[in-house]
Amino acid sequence: MSTQYEVLEYLRYFRELGVEYIDAELEAFRTPDSSAPSSVRSGEIPPTISSFDLKPLASEIASVEKPKPGSRLKDIPSLASLSPQRTSKLEKNETAPSMQKEQVADKPQEPQTIRSTSETLDDIRADIGPDCSRCKLSTLGRRQVVNSTGNPNARLMFVGEAPGADEDEQGEPFVGRAGQLLTKIIESIGIERKDVFIGNINRCRPPKNRAPEPDETAACKPFLLREISVVRPKVIVVLGATAAQNLLETNVPIGKLRGRFHEYYGVKVMPTFHPAYLLRDPHKKREVWEDMKIVRDYLNSVANKDHWK
Ligand code: SF4
Repeated sequence: MSTQYEVLEYLRYFRELGVEYIDAELEAFRTPDSSAPSSVRSGEIPPTISSFDLKPLASEIASVEKPKPGSRLKDIPSLASLSPQRTSKLEKNETAPSMQKEQVADKPQEPQTIRSTSETLDDIRADIGPDCSRCKLSTLGRRQVVNSTGNPNARLMFVGEAPGADEDEQGEPFVGRAGQLLTKIIESIGIERKDVFIGNINRCRPPKNRAPEPDETAACKPFLLREISVVRPKVIVVLGATAAQNLLETNVPIGKLRGRFHEYYGVKVMPTFHPAYLLRDPHKKREVWEDMKIVRDYLNSVANKDHWK
């Protein structure tokens, strides 16, 4: 690709993102988005899976057999095993078998795929309930549960960390300034926001936008995994270090995770920077554009093999 063409592509991308004046973007940097997760706003490295206290889960983890070499897919518990009946265990903050078997992103993985499931997004939402109290975030000032939204047949899914102030107030994910930027990012690759599916790993706003704690993530993440089983997207773009590390169960920094696909139960996962971080540091938009081009090209490459859902 020629340099000139690259420059034109960048210009188009920045125009899509509404970047007209660098000063305006720097102003956004001086006034961080109040709805941004704490880790994004502070620039701190969030807690990682490796720092989670797994002691309470030790016996459960020890009881799960590792797949033997040559195991067939049907022998490997899948996301579909997270049926509503399993939620009584999840309510105790135990980790689902499929999550225990997840591998660190950079390690060789057994081929695992998402099994089809008969449950619907409405079933999952009903299971969560409007007043979910499965983790302590229900008692720490959240206004409401913020469920995922979007096209149930989406080929592209976005996953963030947890709702911020605007999302907590409006009951929808990514509706604040960061959400508006996410819309522009989606549109920059020729897709409308209504055609994607958007959610968070945790559905309740943590106090002061702190990062969700391990027990909170363990309680809520299974619902997202069930949604992935229902939607079966071709690509998941996971936004920000905390969400990427939680989803992929790794402590690799976001700067090293981004820029390439990771496999997650047969779904391509592209980690990239959180839009709220881009509001603080507009220079990172270039990397996000590179990531989104990879996503766009992959979706285009499979479009001829698989119709748009
Ligand atoms: S964060 Fe998730 S598990 Fe915790 S109370 Fe909210 S909906 Fe329930």
